[in-house]
Amino acid sequence: MKTGVLALQGDFDAHRRRLEELGAEVVLIKKPEQLEEIDGLIIPGGESGTFLKLLGEDGFAKLKQFVLSKPTFGTCAGAILLATEVENPAQAGLGAIDIGIRRNAYGRQIDSSIREGKLGNSPLEMVFIRAPKIVRVGEGVEVLATEGADPVAVRQGRTMAATFHPELSEDLRVHQAFLSMIPDVEKTRGTFIGKSSLSDELEQERRQKDKE
Ligand code: GLN
Repeated sequence: MKTGVLALQGDFDAHRRRLEELGAEVVLIKKPEQLEEIDGLIIPGGESGTFLKLLGEDGFAKLKQFVLSKPTFGTCAGAILLATEVENPAQAGLGAIDIGIRRNAYGRQIDSSIREGKLGNSPLEMVFIRAPKIVRVGEGVEVLATEGADPVAVRQGRTMAATFHPELSEDLRVHQAFLSMIPDVEKTRGTFIGKSSLSDELEQERRQKDKE
């Protein structure tokens, strides 16, 4: 079971460290062919327009095929890439998660900040850097985390997106929630961290819903 981090630009190395702290085997993805080796992928922050340029048409098509079939987590620019609709300005999205997202939505004055939001019902430190805002949440998209009134981490099926940078905080719960979506990790999840985690909470919620 291998987890990839797209390593074209941006803060991919911080994601690698977080995943390794959780015991995952990480592959830095620099070429589209490497996508064949991995079971899940993180698309890091950076500049989404630059990602599109670096990917090119072929890279975009291969990445799209991957994100539509395997667990993927996009943070900040990565969340922008995964969205169905991108504005300010409009640009192509991979369409893996049914959200509308507005780039650089906080303006220059609060360009970057560390704020406290909520992951489920628990407080979570969130680092925002020229962050986008999720302006539309489609049906079937679950909100995992909020900051004030805004959804800041969402999930649909095998796709997760966050507008903040969990890789820049010590808290591992968001990465753990992502790893728990990769099937083989699910089986050995208990070995990662003993305490109750978001993935456990979500699992319980899911079971509860199934009962209802
Ligand atoms: N502002 C960047 C973009 O539009 C995202 C910033 C980030 O990833 N930290 O793509």
